[in-house]
Amino acid sequence: MIENETFDVVVVGSGAAGAMAALRAADLGMTVLILEKAHKFGGTSATSGGVMWIPNHQLEGDKGDSRESTFTYLDSVIGKEVNRERLEAFVDESPKMLHYLKNTGVEVMAAAWPDYFPDNPGARADRSVIVPTFDGRELGDDRYALMREQYNRFKLFGRYAMDLTETFALMMQSKGWRTVAGKVIGRYWLDRGTRRVSHRDRRFTQGAALMGATYKQVFARGVELRLETKLERLVVDESGRVTGAEVSNFGRSYEVHARHGVVLAAGGFEWNQELRDRFYPIPGLTRHSSTPEDANRGEALIAAEKIGASTEHTEQGWWMPTMTLPMKGASNFHEIHQSAFDVGRPWSVVVNRNGVRFVDEACGYDQFGQAMVRDHLATGANMPCWLIFDAKFRRKFSAGGLMPTVHTPEKKVPKDWWDHYVFRADTIEELCRKVHLPVDAVQQTVAKMNDYARTGIDPEFGRGMNAYDQMFGDPVSTPNPNIGPIDTAPYYAVPINNGDLGTKGGLRCDARARVLDGEGRPIAGLYSAGNNAGTPFGDAYPGAGATIGPAMTFGYIAANDIAERSGNLRG
Ligand SMILES: Cc1cc2nc3c(=O)[nH]c(=O)nc-3n(C[C@H](O)[C@H](O)[C@H](O)COP(=O)(O)OP(=O)(O)OC[C@H]3O[C@@H](n4cnc5c(N)ncnc54)[C@H](O)[C@@H]3O)c2cc1C
Repeated sequence: MIENETFDVVVVGSGAAGAMAALRAADLGMTVLILEKAHKFGGTSATSGGVMWIPNHQLEGDKGDSRESTFTYLDSVIGKEVNRERLEAFVDESPKMLHYLKNTGVEVMAAAWPDYFPDNPGARADRSVIVPTFDGRELGDDRYALMREQYNRFKLFGRYAMDLTETFALMMQSKGWRTVAGKVIGRYWLDRGTRRVSHRDRRFTQGAALMGATYKQVFARGVELRLETKLERLVVDESGRVTGAEVSNFGRSYEVHARHGVVLAAGGFEWNQELRDRFYPIPGLTRHSSTPEDANRGEALIAAEKIGASTEHTEQGWWMPTMTLPMKGASNFHEIHQSAFDVGRPWSVVVNRNGVRFVDEACGYDQFGQAMVRDHLATGANMPCWLIFDAKFRRKFSAGGLMPTVHTPEKKVPKDWWDHYVFRADTIEELCRKVHLPVDAVQQTVAKMNDYARTGIDPEFGRGMNAYDQMFGDPVSTPNPNIGPIDTAPYYAVPINNGDLGTKGGLRCDARARVLDGEGRPIAGLYSAGNNAGTPFGDAYPGAGATIGPAMTFGYIAANDIAERSGNLRG
């Protein structure tokens, strides 16, 4: 038992929300401990694309965004009632958080990425922000391999780290992609020094860049991070104020005291089947989630509920279509593969079990998931739905983890995948029989898509008819980059699940990130940020980075509020 351990602030969870809360609290003169239950730090955030949605960010590349146009847009995309003050806090504080992050030494840059509802009023294509490639070894050799690694499936050949530009060049096989691949591989093998430390590519890209660069600053400020240390229970004094946390570490348990506040930044509940079943209106399995399996199980949400905290938006996920394949080199393990962009490529269509389309397949991944939910509630015939494509698609695009033939020719696909994970047939009719889809309905759907491919117009759902869809289409396919005729055998089908990037709902908080009880009163000393808290956006996913942008913003706000209330403000 360790006794009398007291920090000004205890942060639970080492993802984007926790890292920002810790960084800011340390800069405001407070002592900080980060508790992380996993054996690596960085959370889902370190495995992610690392994009932050920060409207009106005023970096170079902001082409005249404003508070007004941000609200015009948000008001047009948010479908359910949200806490207005909390939404305003996000809009007003997120640029401040970003410029604070930049001033600590983290490089940030605007990325040209259309908002996810590009035709809505106020939509723009300059609100997403990324961190350029970071040299992971700047964390020091003892720490660099301890940060959670990106999934192999996001690396070239499962090994070589790629930034977003390289990823898109290879994904689309655009001009010069072979040179890009050569450079990515060459850079790794020429870096002999790093391979003596770890197999891990020292190039931290995307989410690894964001978290690596941020943690460099966190560690520089003397913040302590404890791995394998899990929040079990919140400690409350007789007045109801949260004063610390009971934690467990390799079987022993102890308390840590928080003089001024505890920030719950322990992610969502996507890996807790019981909570999913309790909160979600539709069936779904933990293993459809694309987040790390050993991390977010809603323990901090449960701990807060036990002391009277309330929740909001818990019926919502950050949806992401996924499919499953056996994991190479690991017996009896399956791997989740995101198929966000695959489902909207030309020469394909997605249908429910009635053989009917239900969405503009090329829309944002969260909208795709929302459509699956709606369709399932209406028809009972979704979850999974089916991506059907032809040989032209197969040659060029991935379908989840099934890489295009240019990378994985048919003969290299493991035999046990065929007609278990990926279905193949010489005719649409035979394919439908294999996957138990109604032949007539699917044939009609395919015939309609082939018609739309000719005219370029999808009168049903408008596929390929807006800037977001087109960004992930193929210019080779004309007149519509997202629709091409499905007419070249063999034909394929893969089941698509309603996976996620985490959960959208969580603890109900106010505009200062304070956790609220059932009466809407703040619980003294308790804060929450990131997916541990309910999103300010309710049911919407407004643009690329809309989970990490608010996560970091409310981590920043929590630290500011703790410092203000404790009178412990340094600067
Ligand atoms: C492949 C992928 C790409 C993505 N790309 C993007 C993107 O580009 N932009 C974007 O906005 N979103 C993206 N997302 C979603 C985004 O990564 C998450 O929504 C976000 O990282 C959540 O941040 P967080 O800080 O709330 O939680 P996390 O980063 O998940 O961190 C939570 C941490 O808390 C720890 N923890 C959990 N329980 C306990 C406990 N009891 N005690 C102690 N510690 C605990 C976990 O181990 C974890 O380390 C992506 C997700 C995936 C999977």
